[in-house]
Amino acid sequence: MTVPAPPPHRPLLVIYTGGTLGMQATPRGLAPGGNIAERLERALRQLPAGLGAGLPAYRLLAFDAPIDSSAATPRDWSRLAGVIAARYRDHAGIVVLHGTDTLAWSAASLAYQLQGIDRPVVLTGAMQPLEAVGSDAAENVALALHYAANPALQEVAIAFGGRLLRGVRARKWHTQDAAAFTSPNYPLLGERVGSDAVLYPGRGLERQQRGAPRFELPDYAPLADGGVARIVLWPGISARQLAAWLEDQHLKGALLEVWGGGNLPEDPALLGVLAQASGEGKLLAAISQCPHGAISPGDYAAGQGLRDAGVLSGDAMTAEAALTKLVHLLAQPLADAERRRRFLTPLAGERW
Ligand code: ASP
Repeated sequence: MTVPAPPPHRPLLVIYTGGTLGMQATPRGLAPGGNIAERLERALRQLPAGLGAGLPAYRLLAFDAPIDSSAATPRDWSRLAGVIAARYRDHAGIVVLHGTDTLAWSAASLAYQLQGIDRPVVLTGAMQPLEAVGSDAAENVALALHYAANPALQEVAIAFGGRLLRGVRARKWHTQDAAAFTSPNYPLLGERVGSDAVLYPGRGLERQQRGAPRFELPDYAPLADGGVARIVLWPGISARQLAAWLEDQHLKGALLEVWGGGNLPEDPALLGVLAQASGEGKLLAAISQCPHGAISPGDYAAGQGLRDAGVLSGDAMTAEAALTKLVHLLAQPLADAERRRRFLTPLAGERW
């Protein structure tokens, strides 16, 4: 049995956080613009009938100081989840208008904070501002509204370029293309077919979303200024360079992006730096630099060191999913063993 859908008469909530979608030209380049309610309504009205017909009713909540999402930090992830948690009961679904640069990071973070959500939370944005000729903005918003009104969708997702992706599996993949997002290790949740927003059966989290939502809303502020690092290895990385990251007193955890199926050089100095950081209680995890496929550290001798140093396997998680999960776990008062257990357990469909 799934959780009963909220009554259909409740409107959707659209939250505007910033991003290209609402930007306007300034002497210094595009910057977040105001007056979003009117501008959005106008753009939706101008959509061709097939795309703009029958859009569900929504209320708009515009953040006071919309941002370019390249400026987002874990504080913004906390704030956004808090706003949704406080208002979701009065709305059939939520749409978040967000800059595309870090949209996938916010989506991943929301998935952990809003575990068990019983209705759609759909993020979208645009590669072109609402008023630009040939803009993708209104189409993306219309698609997000349609998915957000579908009670069968019970998770955090991204609607973009005619597709619906699991939020905690998605990545921004293109700097210009209208289909800017991809989901390298999980199939699409849905797709626009003609003017219909189709949801593919059997791919969503709805069977997992039983009982009351299990929101976890820890304060991310203590980790927001570099508490968790993302370290991408390169050929020739030295132990000294790795130590510069990991010996930082403010660092509580780190995501390592290693080679192929989970390998790194069998360099005792490098492995020693990892083991020392782990021994100090820093939470370390690894994923592959390859966009597709999982890691399996230890298949090669060159990966054994990761296991010996206590580095957790991030499976086929995206960097966005793995790093936001480290932040989420480190922000909670959990014992180290419990944090490690939860990292290895799928919490929101982010890993197998
Ligand atoms: N820099 C913009 C942002 O992420 C890019 C976009 O929205 O497409 O806010």
